[in-house]
Amino acid sequence: MDLMRSVRDQTDETEFHTPLPDGYQLGQTRYVAVFGTVMSGLGKGIFSSSVAKLLKDKSLRVSPIKLEGYLNIDSGTLNPYRHGEVFVLDDGMECDMDLGTYERMLDQNLSRENFATSGQIYRNVLDKERAGDYLGRDVQMIPHVTGEVKLRLRELAVKTSADVVFVEVGGTVGDIENAFYIEALREMNYEEGAGSVLFVALTYVLRPPALGEQKSKAAQLGIKRLMESGVHPHVIACRCETPVTDKVRQKISVYTNVPLQRVFSMHDLPSIYMLPEQMREAGLDSEIVQLLDLGARVNSATDARAALEWQEFTARLARPEHEVRIGITGKYTALRDSYASIIKALEHAGGANRAHVKVEWIDTTDIDDDNVAERLAGVDGVIVPGGFGVRGTAGKIAVVRHVREQGIPYLGICLGFQMAVVDYARNVCGLDDADSTEINPDCEHPVVSILPEQKQIEGLGGNMRLGGQDVVITPGTLAAELFAADAAAGEASGRVRERFRHRFEVDPEYVETLEEGGLIFSGRHPEHPIMQILELSRDVHPYFIAAQFHPELTSRPLTPQPMFRGLVAAALARRHETTGQPAC
Ligand code: GLN
Repeated sequence: MDLMRSVRDQTDETEFHTPLPDGYQLGQTRYVAVFGTVMSGLGKGIFSSSVAKLLKDKSLRVSPIKLEGYLNIDSGTLNPYRHGEVFVLDDGMECDMDLGTYERMLDQNLSRENFATSGQIYRNVLDKERAGDYLGRDVQMIPHVTGEVKLRLRELAVKTSADVVFVEVGGTVGDIENAFYIEALREMNYEEGAGSVLFVALTYVLRPPALGEQKSKAAQLGIKRLMESGVHPHVIACRCETPVTDKVRQKISVYTNVPLQRVFSMHDLPSIYMLPEQMREAGLDSEIVQLLDLGARVNSATDARAALEWQEFTARLARPEHEVRIGITGKYTALRDSYASIIKALEHAGGANRAHVKVEWIDTTDIDDDNVAERLAGVDGVIVPGGFGVRGTAGKIAVVRHVREQGIPYLGICLGFQMAVVDYARNVCGLDDADSTEINPDCEHPVVSILPEQKQIEGLGGNMRLGGQDVVITPGTLAAELFAADAAAGEASGRVRERFRHRFEVDPEYVETLEEGGLIFSGRHPEHPIMQILELSRDVHPYFIAAQFHPELTSRPLTPQPMFRGLVAAALARRHETTGQPAC
């Protein structure tokens, strides 16, 4: 169809509603849309980001977008134990953890344009309705809501000059929440013209233990459900614990008309970072380049270089020479997803140190000074991660005190930074009733509190301080050494950029007392007395460092975040020292 003509013809008399952003050139951008069938949690983001990485390696410009079914405007208010961690982008957007997967896999910063929710889509539609933009029409799911979805995708294409936009549709086919996204993509496929939109169905191949063999029926039914929505997949990715057998792949191929070489076995791997290589081996990247007719835009020299670099990284992951155990204070029963970025940052840091990092969860709700030594026995390093509220904080302070006094490597993150300040104020500086006002609003020494005047400086009112901020590093400190070793972090300027998500901070009134007591603030706000990194001198502790920001959010596979890399190195040194032998 002549989309441009139909757009021009749109009036209150026609049924069309396809708003196009300024500068949009039909046929310029390709779209890869990934749908989940059978069940959620199959790793659509992992699949989509891996393909996107392979195309980026070939010098194609890629831009991902996650389409969330829920009505929330962002992920800021979601419980991480239910939905996984809240990932914060540099522009302050609080979004789904999948955006973290994309940033890491692509080594690319994303922005709010890369994250849409039904809430955002509906809000835009309702705002437009109030502004009279629909020319007297009754506003409908089709074409207006679907039109808004298409507009978001095309705006992203224009804004990022993407060769390929990767669209990850949240949820599972059959959900009421995401039905309009699927419909919008069906329409896109028609409007953009042949060869411009590629559909991927992610499905699950069951392997009931009682049968001991893989069964494809659920997968077939799931894909059939997708086809009923007018979406015929070009590629099918089959999730399974074990490699999907040829027989099952053939069966799925026969039932769906998808050629066998495009029915991909996405079985469990020791690390998600091994998936791009598997895809490359299976020829999936070339297949997709061909289907989208992108051959002319591909650069095979950059592709070969990127493949080699990645292989070196995954080889280090596959064959670690050492093992270290890092304790993370967090609810043992909590989903690993709530600490996804920390786990990934440790994996990156492990790769750089040729170490396999084993994570041990430490529930702090019943930890005190008497049992802390026993509870931390055997860990080579400790992380107290971010968190909100009072629960478990007394135990966290006991943990910080113990690792500080015993010389156990420590990385404090956000709340873990604040707990380190409270411990130091109480147990070193003698401020007995020191606390964070988040925990005890009436304490005598509110060393960590909400400082309205500083929030005004930041222009954020009483809200959370969110997103990327510059941090000035004090020369001659551990932080300076760590960041200087990281060529990508912009150490030349003495500034690094990190991501924040917090309300409370160190009260500047107490900074002098804490410093006199020996605490070093080695990272600060460029203009205001906001403390961003603390550390202890290496004369008194081998590795004790904490950040008000979230260093895990900026760690990338090939450029691990320096504070994590340093933690694993210090933990490794301690392990060598205590055991005499590196354990493998
Ligand atoms: N609850 C603390 C604050 O709001 C820490 C936040 C966090 O760890 N992300 O400042």
